[in-house]
Amino acid sequence: MRPKHSSAGITLVVHGGSGNIPESEHAAHREGVIGALNHAWPMLQAGKSALDVVEAAVCFLEDYPAFDAGRGSCINRAGFVELDASIMDGSELSYGAVAGMRSIRNPVRAARKVLESEYTFLVGEGAREFALDAGLESCPEEWFQVEREIQRWRECSKEEPTAPAGPRGTVGAVARDSNGRLAAATSTGGPPCKPPGRVGDSPLIGAGLYAEDNVAAISVTGRGELLTRLLWSYRATLLVQGGMPAPAAAEAAVSFLGRLKAYGGIIIVDGDGRPGAAFNTQYMAYGIRMDNGEPDRISP
Ligand code: ASP
Repeated sequence: MRPKHSSAGITLVVHGGSGNIPESEHAAHREGVIGALNHAWPMLQAGKSALDVVEAAVCFLEDYPAFDAGRGSCINRAGFVELDASIMDGSELSYGAVAGMRSIRNPVRAARKVLESEYTFLVGEGAREFALDAGLESCPEEWFQVEREIQRWRECSKEEPTAPAGPRGTVGAVARDSNGRLAAATSTGGPPCKPPGRVGDSPLIGAGLYAEDNVAAISVTGRGELLTRLLWSYRATLLVQGGMPAPAAAEAAVSFLGRLKAYGGIIIVDGDGRPGAAFNTQYMAYGIRMDNGEPDRISP
């Protein structure tokens, strides 16, 4: 049982990526999202900001090797991992992102450091150097590459380069804190065997995430080339702004994907702390925790 506490209307929602995820991996994805809730929820209960909480939840998921973010990321065509991450604070509409970055253990921490700087988006070697200067931990390439992804890379690197293969484990978190502030974060290694330098929706504001206090915080997953064109997170934000509660907005947002025959998944928390999660893929692990006395909602 969760301890009772006085702060009202706090909500945390996390996801572990949408896609054609084999059933044999569902349990690990579920354990990962439950672990992220358990890790970050006490911070929310203790009155920490939604921004701190989504950063902590995504850090946990980046370190959890079942997901395509941080350790466990898909390996690009050239044989190394390139990481994209973003974070947004709905109070200030402030945002930070990194893309195509190597070796930094927790890309979402780098995105947070960018948010706190005078810049909003850093890429490649510049992002890495910035993160190192900010004191963030670096890991060798082998630390990121897990056996599952090495196998996948062996298979897909034999094929002709075509459209990126289906991604499968981007991570994200959205939260409403006890002061009503909203925040969102998203992190990914992108699709398997992507070309070096490829960037999808995850680090792009309005595409891979969006957050605005009293409206919504959103993190999405799916084929980045299509989700970016839809500005998917921002479109979903507009639904909530128009009066739709988060659960209905998540479902309605998924229906937008049909226009581009896209696939994906979305998590939302609205200004009142109502959560939503929806996807049109075979699977997406997600976890929802609220302080209303109801049990957690975890993807089956
Ligand atoms: N959206 C991510 C990307 O395209 C991948 C995913 O969500 O699975 O990089």
